Amino acid sequence: MTLLFANNQISTLKTTGGDDFAVGRIFCIGRNYEAHAREMGKDPNREAPFFFTKWPEAVVNAAPEDKTEIAYPPETANYHHEAELVVAIGVDGFRIAEADANDHIWGYAVGLDMTRRDLQLQARDKGRPWDTGKNFAQSCPTGRLQPAAEKGHIERGEILLTVNGETRQQADISDLIWSVPETIAYVSKFYPLRAGDLIFTGTPAGVGAVVSGDQLDCKIEGLPSLSVRIGGAL
Ligand code: MN
Repeated sequence: MTLLFANNQISTLKTTGGDDFAVGRIFCIGRNYEAHAREMGKDPNREAPFFFTKWPEAVVNAAPEDKTEIAYPPETANYHHEAELVVAIGVDGFRIAEADANDHIWGYAVGLDMTRRDLQLQARDKGRPWDTGKNFAQSCPTGRLQPAAEKGHIERGEILLTVNGETRQQADISDLIWSVPETIAYVSKFYPLRAGDLIFTGTPAGVGAVVSGDQLDCKIEGLPSLSVRIGGAL
């Protein structure tokens, strides 16, 4: 077989052990904290979760020692941060039972679901797909992935995001409307999950705009922190 074009662009995330995690699909859960559902003008009642996807090229390593800078993306004037717990899948599975979900988790990280909010809201209000608002290169800065086998599963603990040192998002992972095992069970009903897939579990209240030059720092209790600066326009 001769490939016409070499499609060898593998997106990877660094792990705390030094190995690189090859990223497959990225599933992002929407409105998974009550206060954030309210700030987006939606009913926080426990209706079925929903999710959207991003391409692997969205991820970018963003540990403090990486000193990562991401470009301010095109076609937006309202670029938002969404701090989230990221779950990395390590074992394939289809229609995974909630009780078995943790067995499919490789590890966890701190991540940002960066969003062109103006494009997302225009699409949402017209009943159109969210792709241009959500799915673009460098839209998922992520800290080091930490294996669950070594440090255990993340079920609670503070999640905190600061911009230029000022607190913007602060909540607890235990506030998730849909827990991590429930989310894995739900997503895996629609798509067989594969090792390498990532799930961004949703953001708490306090989302807001950033501009070029802003410094974002994000922490989740028990995980390595995330640090990224917003660079100039792409
Ligand atoms: Mn999100």
